[in-house]
Amino acid sequence: MKPGHKALLAGLASLLALALLITYQQQLLRFFKPVPAAAPAGEAPANPDPPEEDSIWQKVTVGARLLEAGTDRETPLYIITAPEEGPTVMVIGGVHGDEPAGYEAAQVVSTWLVDRGTLLVLPRANALAVATGTRYPEGTLNLNRIFPGNAAGSPTERLAASIFAVMAEYRPLWVVDLHEARVFEHLQFDALGQTIIYPEDGEQIELIEWIIAGMNSSITEEMHQFQVKRGGVAGGTIYASRLLQLESFTVETTQELPLQDRINQHLDAVRLLLSSLGVAVNETGLE
Ligand SMILES: [Zn+2]
Repeated sequence: MKPGHKALLAGLASLLALALLITYQQQLLRFFKPVPAAAPAGEAPANPDPPEEDSIWQKVTVGARLLEAGTDRETPLYIITAPEEGPTVMVIGGVHGDEPAGYEAAQVVSTWLVDRGTLLVLPRANALAVATGTRYPEGTLNLNRIFPGNAAGSPTERLAASIFAVMAEYRPLWVVDLHEARVFEHLQFDALGQTIIYPEDGEQIELIEWIIAGMNSSITEEMHQFQVKRGGVAGGTIYASRLLQLESFTVETTQELPLQDRINQHLDAVRLLLSSLGVAVNETGLE
């Protein structure tokens, strides 16, 4: 080997060694992040939370908009916007006013913060039905049969049109509607209790099955386990979502079970969906 080549090689070797050393030092630095010194007993720690830990949540904005403002159907839509771009998910409760687990769970979801995307929550879609504890008040229509509604129609048709307009404006990746049934689907076909209803032509069945498996992992009794039900009624929220080519499912708990269990099952479904989309949730909000 010529001496010139030798020197070149030696130079390259030392450059490589230097690069390795720098990388190693950076990894060491990363590994040994400075740890705040423990505060002496009786004194508050100088810096209890590193600022980067909570800054994501402080950048989340929480807003609300009233649908059908000024009418007896007036109902808040909560809009939780994360600092990072990500999917929009819409959660609806209270389409039927005698299905408390759905609207109570949606009310809880309206207090969550997300790290990516937008969370839209309409906890009491049919506020009048929720206030009267009825499926829908006498003299009005079943909100889950009249989508996409009619902005110049009857009061319930106007309400449906307002909700449909939100779906069209935000075009959520998923619309999730929280309902309740009276009887277990395991006992009676089409009773719908403990099902997730997903459209016949939906292409995300594997995700739905993954959500159901997650929900069932904490349910020991076979009767209480969830199963998928392909379908969705004409004029319902799934139907409305399909008109806009949005993905959608309905969760149906069973009123035979304790209310808190049913609320938790709805919350599990929403948690699992958000987690599958890579969205982290802060359920305690900001202190
Ligand atoms: Zn219902």
